[in-house]
Amino acid sequence: MKSKIKNQSLSEGLELASEILKTTSKVLEESRHSHDKCMECDKPPTHEVLWAEGHGHAWFCDEHLKSWSKENGDDIVYLKEVKDGVAAMKFSDNKNPNIKESTKVVDFTFTLHHRWWPSKLVEGKMDMPQKFELRIDKIDSVLEIITNADIIGQSEFITYIKESQNRDSFKIGESVQRVISPLDTDISKKDISWMHLVDKGSAKMIESTDILVSIELKGDKLSGVIDLHRTEKDHNYWVLKKLK
Ligand SMILES: [Zn+2]
Repeated sequence: MKSKIKNQSLSEGLELASEILKTTSKVLEESRHSHDKCMECDKPPTHEVLWAEGHGHAWFCDEHLKSWSKENGDDIVYLKEVKDGVAAMKFSDNKNPNIKESTKVVDFTFTLHHRWWPSKLVEGKMDMPQKFELRIDKIDSVLEIITNADIIGQSEFITYIKESQNRDSFKIGESVQRVISPLDTDISKKDISWMHLVDKGSAKMIESTDILVSIELKGDKLSGVIDLHRTEKDHNYWVLKKLK
C-alpha cells in the first residue's frame, strides 16, 4: 500500500518534470529563431501563433504555416497576422486581431481529380464508373466534394461532401496514377482505379456554414466562385452551382 502511494506521487512528479522540460525546450527553441524570418525558412513571417496551451510561440511564412498547421493545427490557441515581416518578441505585443476562427486570410490549395474504374460489360453495354473529386485542403481538415458530374463542364449538379484528414490526393503527381481505391470498400484488390489530376490551384473560403459553403477557386481549368447549398438538414448531399 505504501509503495503504491509512493509510485503514484513519483509518477505525478515525473509528469510534472516532463511538462516543465517540454515548456523549457519550446522556449529554448523559440529563442534560437530570428523574428524576421519564418521558423522554417528565410522568408519573412506572415503569421504568428500561440500554441501548446499558450507555452509555444511560433511564426511562419504562408507556406510553412500550412505545413506546420497540418501537424499542430489543433494546438493553436491564437493566430495573428504579421504585417511588417517581423514577429513580435512577445505574442501579446502583436495587436492584430486573433484570426484563428477566420479561414479567410489563408489561401488553401485544391486538387481536382478524375477517377475511373475498369469498364465492365453490364447488360451488353460497357459501363464506366467514374467520379470527379474536388478536394480543398483547409489546414484543419480536407473538404471532399465527390460527384459523378463533370465539375469542369457542368454548372449545376448534386454532389456529396465530406470532411476528412486524408491528404494523399495532394501528393499524387500530374500523370495518370494507378491506385487502389480508398473510397469503395467493396472493390476487391485486383480492381485498380485510375486517377488523373485535372487541375490544382488556390482556394479561398468566402463562407462556410451548415447550409452554405462558398469557395473561390483559382486554377487553370476550374476558376471562379462555387456555391454549395445543402439539400436537406443533416444530409451530405449538396447542390453545387458555379457562379459566372
Ligand atoms: Zn517559411
